[in-house]
Amino acid sequence: MKVLKFGGTSVANSDSLEKVTSIISNQSEKIIVVVSALGGVTDLLFKSMQKALNGDETFSSEIEIIEEKHLELIKKSIKIINHSKIISYLKKILNQLETTLDGIIALRELTPKTISKIYSYGEILSSKIILEILKENELDVVLLDSRNIIITENKNNKDIVDWKKTSNKTNLYFEKINSNITLLPGFISSNSKGETTTLGRGGSDYTASIIANILNVKILEIWTDVSGMFTANPKIVNQATPIAKLSYLEAMELSHFGAKVIFPPTLQPLVEKNIPAIIKNTFKPNDPGTLIDSKSSIKNNQVVKGISHIDDVALVSLEGSGMIGIPGFSKRLFEVLFRENINVIMITQASSEQSICIAVNSIDSDLAKKEIDSEFEFEISLNKVNPTSLEKGLVNIAMVGDKMKDHQGISGKMFSSLGYNNVNIRAIAQGASERNISIIIKKQDCHKALNTLHEVFFEKNIKEINLFIIGVGNVGSKLLEQIEKQVDYLNEFLQLRIRVISIANSKKMILSNNSININDWRILLESGESNNLNKFYKHAKQLNLRNSIFIDNTASKIISLEYERYLNSNIGVVTCNKIACADTLENYLSLKKSSRKYGSPFLFETNVGAGLPIIDTLNNLIASGDQIIEIEAVLSGSLNFIFNNFSKDISFHEIVLKAKKEGYTEPDPKIDLSGIDVARKILILARESGLDLELNDIEIKPFLPEQCLKIKDIDSFFKSLIDYEDEFNKPLESAIKNKSRLKYVAQLKNGKAKVGLQEIAIGHNFYELEGSDNIILFYTNRYSEQPLIVKGAGAGAEVTASGIFADIIRIGKR
Ligand code: ADP
Ligand code: ASP
Ligand code: MG
Repeated sequence: MKVLKFGGTSVANSDSLEKVTSIISNQSEKIIVVVSALGGVTDLLFKSMQKALNGDETFSSEIEIIEEKHLELIKKSIKIINHSKIISYLKKILNQLETTLDGIIALRELTPKTISKIYSYGEILSSKIILEILKENELDVVLLDSRNIIITENKNNKDIVDWKKTSNKTNLYFEKINSNITLLPGFISSNSKGETTTLGRGGSDYTASIIANILNVKILEIWTDVSGMFTANPKIVNQATPIAKLSYLEAMELSHFGAKVIFPPTLQPLVEKNIPAIIKNTFKPNDPGTLIDSKSSIKNNQVVKGISHIDDVALVSLEGSGMIGIPGFSKRLFEVLFRENINVIMITQASSEQSICIAVNSIDSDLAKKEIDSEFEFEISLNKVNPTSLEKGLVNIAMVGDKMKDHQGISGKMFSSLGYNNVNIRAIAQGASERNISIIIKKQDCHKALNTLHEVFFEKNIKEINLFIIGVGNVGSKLLEQIEKQVDYLNEFLQLRIRVISIANSKKMILSNNSININDWRILLESGESNNLNKFYKHAKQLNLRNSIFIDNTASKIISLEYERYLNSNIGVVTCNKIACADTLENYLSLKKSSRKYGSPFLFETNVGAGLPIIDTLNNLIASGDQIIEIEAVLSGSLNFIFNNFSKDISFHEIVLKAKKEGYTEPDPKIDLSGIDVARKILILARESGLDLELNDIEIKPFLPEQCLKIKDIDSFFKSLIDYEDEFNKPLESAIKNKSRLKYVAQLKNGKAKVGLQEIAIGHNFYELEGSDNIILFYTNRYSEQPLIVKGAGAGAEVTASGIFADIIRIGKR
């Protein structure tokens, strides 16, 4: 014999009942079936009681929904000829419900007795209807009212099972039953006076396990809407997977700490008789589910079995010097909580015994504070103890596994991964059994913390990176293209899961909660909402996803002003926009500081030499103890293009025009030609080398006449290049005469930086530089004779995008 329990999610409507009927029909032995109320009905009953208690007569709308749910099931699943008798039963129960609710309104009183009475209607109705459905399927079934066999007694204002009476009655009833299937409503029971009681919300699981224990059945099957106990709540952690096997103790810890799929007291009766339980999915009956029995086992080195959490807890802390060494202090504290029936989720006590901190459910916390303060009134009046402090809006997260105690480093890994993601831990407790490490954190960090821990402990080191991208012009669109192509590769070979969550251009934005389908970004953006930088930021902050990165593909000052608040919210920043790092030293240092303080990476490799690994190389040299002696570089792709092509056959004006047309210059070519752009780049390298320089400190030797630089309008500027033709021909002629080439060079030496046009002689590393290539020579202590050279394409959307991509991957690999 075995017991099958079908939860509210499995008996929600006619489709799900079809699955239930098929599972029951496939059984080849005698079975006991325990059913919950139709999905959502117990919640509706709760709501109607609350309304009535508050004098709100609109509870009739809840009754209507309850009626509709049942009527729909009856109409779809039961033959018409049987409708009248079952519908009149439904009406009778609903009338009773209405009369009881009217009574509550009149008296403004809701006693535990009435609560149980009202709650019981859900299971009474569901079992009656399901009986009819099973009978119509020609199954040999009888209905047994659980209130006749499950008897409770009241202890400390709580209805608890009277095992002796329940055992006697259950055995007696089942001796008489000959049918193949015995159907029972879960959750409901009665006391010795015959009044209806209940076993607590979610208690149908318990009904099933009580019967399983007393009749000593082979197995208890819990049929629900998920394929077992998951590694974490699947509604919050998308990557969670069913756990194949748990020990009783592991399952108990997980359910006690919030894994709702099984009601916490359910396992105790099974342990006693060593009856296994299996959690199965009604909608996917072939999935293996989770087996729970006495054995603890480890597969694939998976020591941590699951992570569960309790949503709404509060910390109650009692502190004071008077607590030290006073015996019986904790005893008094816990007696208060016991007396008030307050469930303690977690306890931590400082070793100095100066403070004790307990976590309780938020709804109990005000009462807990009031009662503890009144218990310690005398000590508080003597200032030996402070009044209890109360902190709400917290969650408890527990990591569970029988063998955690035999493995070192689990808590270290847990805390460091949370710390890296800026999740602040308010309290920690590790049970003496070391089967469980529990932490208390702020509610807003819950999603991030669960996903981070899940990633670290269950996902073969897969790391998720969440991107919030601003700017989808040349560079941005190339970046999206590259990401799209590489997603699978990164997943497989680097264990990185890159997700684009939000995209914005200067007009529109898409704020998604999940990964955007990159293929469709253009269409989605077109129909997106109006761009709003505040909203974009708030969205990223509020989602609070781990490894979030804000990506700036623009050249806008306004966007560069956004970085600080992202970094302060533990969101990394990757940018090809030079403005922030080349702005005031104060601003640069402040961004670097925020990055360190909040653990938010700030990477801008593409600020110098597009995709070339220049800043990374510099950082690695310094980090490994080398010292920079000199940096010499050609860093402007546009100026290179111009001077490499500038010859006697083509005028300066024509070549600048060509450079602009082919996309080598900034929209305003003056930024390149003035040398400012190169000055900014060497400034960034100087700062990254540890020098506190401002842009003013960079010596810029201009080659454009001042008058040209003053012209605002771009067309007039181009005209002026014709007017000053001679000015440009002079350096060219000199270079040709000296068998040299013109290059725009940046230099950093002895703490000083300068940029300017230079004649480069044959044999120099810069002489052969082609097209728009960049080159950089690092002379260091280690590379003193021969410099470390980085050379290659230093401009263009494709390589800039790949440089940004490389920064994203750098963050992913950290
Ligand atoms: P039933 O109506 O069948 O009793 P419940 O709603 O009580 O079902 O429990 C099943 C739900 O528990 C799942 O739908 C899931 O959302 C939630 N849940 C929370 N944590 C877990 C977990 N660790 N594993 C599986 N389900 C979980
Ligand atoms: N119907 C009850 C509830 O929702 C009992 C159960 O479903 O287990 O709490
Ligand atoms: Mg349940």
